[in-house]
Amino acid sequence: MHDLLASLHDETYKLAILLVIPLIRTSNFDLTMKAIAVRPGTPNSVHERDIPMPTLEIIPDGKGILVKVLKVGVDATDREINDALYGNPPPGDDYLVLGHESFGVVQAVGPNVRSVKPGDYVTATVRRPGGSIYDQIGTYDMTSEETYYERGINLLHGYLTEYFVDHENYIVRVPKGLKHLHVLMEPMSCAAKAIQQAYEAQRRMKVWSPKRAFVLGAGQIGLLSTLVLRLKGLEVFTLARAKGPHLKSSIVEGMEATYVSTSETTLEELAKKVGKADLIIDATGSSSIAFNAMEALGHNGVLVWTSITGGKHVTEVRSDKINIEWVLGNKLLVGSVNANREHFESGIKDMAVGEVMYPSVLEKILTNPVDGLSNYKEMMRLLVEDNSALKVYVNVADE
Ligand code: BGC
Ligand code: ZN
Repeated sequence: MHDLLASLHDETYKLAILLVIPLIRTSNFDLTMKAIAVRPGTPNSVHERDIPMPTLEIIPDGKGILVKVLKVGVDATDREINDALYGNPPPGDDYLVLGHESFGVVQAVGPNVRSVKPGDYVTATVRRPGGSIYDQIGTYDMTSEETYYERGINLLHGYLTEYFVDHENYIVRVPKGLKHLHVLMEPMSCAAKAIQQAYEAQRRMKVWSPKRAFVLGAGQIGLLSTLVLRLKGLEVFTLARAKGPHLKSSIVEGMEATYVSTSETTLEELAKKVGKADLIIDATGSSSIAFNAMEALGHNGVLVWTSITGGKHVTEVRSDKINIEWVLGNKLLVGSVNANREHFESGIKDMAVGEVMYPSVLEKILTNPVDGLSNYKEMMRLLVEDNSALKVYVNVADE
């Protein structure tokens, strides 16, 4: 064998090695890798475990992609899953590998893959299709079935591990020039979808050119929504509790939007001062704020709810007032969950434009890196305890 290889031309030899390494890597069924998982239903069960290395062969049509995980972001959803408020393991397993905000590098591809090649940076969508018509046409984020499949959240293992394999349909290329924004691709896709849904729904108006938006919450979804709306030319007011100046307010202002601290100016006062909004995005994680936002929306406007609230809060609302205002004003409320490939792609394009318009602003969101999967306790601690942690993510591996 050695003689044979030695006799080959240098380039052919290199090519042979390049082809063989991924094959060896992907055909060894005994290999295991580290993963961070929870036992859904058991509070605070986050732990490290070994799981089998996936192989390209699990995707039957030659369109499998093996991704080496570089970074994974975590958010309030992961916290709620670890609090046993949300999430389910895959059938037959008593654990769920966490992580739905992925960033990695392609390691190997099946013979029929055309959209990416080894060495490309990628992220992956979160939902996988169920059986409804919407699932079948690639809009699995709009499934009409009660059961939904989400990697790292519900019924499917996530990305907080060393490698994953998935079908080409769910792998989205990340441009090299956006590599430094890595784990923001998934949250960006949710912001992109929420705003796309608002515009889509507002086609009911025949003519709709929104001028003023309120974004409630200055977490990752709020900030990324602020960007998308600014790029559409709207005047944007982004609201959160804490009095500025601070990191969040500087990010908002860096995108030429206005930061409003609700401890100084309430939403109601803001609406009185500048007028009600044509478009409101709620990304606070508070259902009572989501309901109260209904009072700040202008005629013919649209309010989008994006938060997942796994708790059991009960809120009183001024229902008569809201009811009459909503009817007389033809107002619309839309819920928006998750995202499909199209939203990942449009979100990534907006990020690219955002980097040109507002250079170096978006990366300020990436506040709290945690080094290595084994530091998962620190990851959870930051998620649970550190209010100043805008974005927690794990540096899983170097390239
Ligand atoms: C994720 C979405 C997901 C939602 C509900 C969010 O944290 O970013 O992709 O659909 O949780 O499970
Ligand atoms: Zn999320």
